[in-house]
Amino acid sequence: MRRAWVISTGTELALGQTVDTNTAWLAAQLAALGIRTLRHITVPDDADATRDVLLQAATACDVILLTGGLGPTDDDLTRQALADAAGVQLHLHPPSLDHLRAFFAARGREMPERNTVQALLPQAATALPNTCGTAPGICIALSGTPCYALPGVPFEMRAMFEREVAPALKRLADGAALLSRTLHTFGLGESDLGERIRDLMVRGRNPEVGTTAGFGLVGIRINAAAPSHADAEALLDQAESDLRRRLGSIIFGRDGDTLPGVVGALLAATGRTLSTAESCTGGLIGTLITDVAGSSRYNRGGAIAYANQAKVAILDVDPEEVEQCGAVSDVVARALALGAARKFGSDYAASTTGIAGPAGGTPEKPVGLVFIGLHTPTGTTAQKCLFGSDAPREAIRLRAARTALDLLRLELMHAVTHEVSGSGR
Ligand code: AMP
Ligand code: MG
Repeated sequence: MRRAWVISTGTELALGQTVDTNTAWLAAQLAALGIRTLRHITVPDDADATRDVLLQAATACDVILLTGGLGPTDDDLTRQALADAAGVQLHLHPPSLDHLRAFFAARGREMPERNTVQALLPQAATALPNTCGTAPGICIALSGTPCYALPGVPFEMRAMFEREVAPALKRLADGAALLSRTLHTFGLGESDLGERIRDLMVRGRNPEVGTTAGFGLVGIRINAAAPSHADAEALLDQAESDLRRRLGSIIFGRDGDTLPGVVGALLAATGRTLSTAESCTGGLIGTLITDVAGSSRYNRGGAIAYANQAKVAILDVDPEEVEQCGAVSDVVARALALGAARKFGSDYAASTTGIAGPAGGTPEKPVGLVFIGLHTPTGTTAQKCLFGSDAPREAIRLRAARTALDLLRLELMHAVTHEVSGSGR
């Protein structure tokens, strides 16, 4: 498998004033072409630093992609850096100068003298035509390693890559494939999950397995490299079935699947309906559910009952239970879920009541304590969750909302299994 380095130049990128979107885009294109990116490097507008990185890259990979620094101003130093790295001089490339003049003429303007530098090319380099801007790109071999320098302006860079570079890289990749698949999990922390699949995560293994985590979700990313697309697919399939066998229902989907999407699909498949009664999540569960197109098929509605009064008035929670157990309690979580199911006339209902912080925690009921109520056709339950008293408010709320959705998912999966085996309704 061919390997690439992707280099971006620009002081604004190095200082974090502009987000570098070019390298991410290019690395994704390379992967799609079957080329593995080994490094992303950002250098400020400094010809010597750029030359040094280019020299390093030339000995370490099979193809170099670089963006930025091809403009007409004094901070545009890529041409010089390329010439220095190749140990050659810059010379004027007349066809590029003609293109520049024509570019300005088409806009009714005289070309500023300053732009002539954009027609300079290192000796032995090839100009890559720019169909939507002034600066031509440059293709040059550095110690035998092809290097493509593209404009920094994202749309010019993309157009030039697709027209001038991708076909050559496709030939270079020679049919190799680098495919990736992500399995989404919920319910197990990243370290516990990592323990269970440790042997698959060993570095240097193909397919390569890695995890990414955020707010209760853990993604398992599988990258497979192979001489052909079919071989890479087979490696992914093998890894996926291995992971599914080990992790079972912790895995809720793959690639574009989302937790609310999967819950929605299960509701739609079983013809069941859902409603919500939210306190500390303030409508977040309802938002996640209604983010899914077509959710009107199963979503009956939801109530945001923040104050105790609202819990009593809207969802028929018993004021004495609130008084005795406190609003943040399993009793009230169950009452909220049951109240929502009755008021909205749904088969299932999810509720939350908790302390999202940062204030309001006590030793008995710390910040991060959330009770999640669940009403199903077979009963009403509540689960106590501790999301951590130092967790930020938005993390507690999002984890609570996702936990409620995941509890629903597991209930629905159970119901589907029963219906399929004939022991359901
Ligand atoms: P340059 O070709 O270096 O003069 O870049 C022209 C403009 O393109 C810059 O002012 C940036 O706004 C943008 N740009 C350059 N490099 C990148 C990059 N790697 N990611 C996103 N935008 C970029
Ligand atoms: Mg620049």
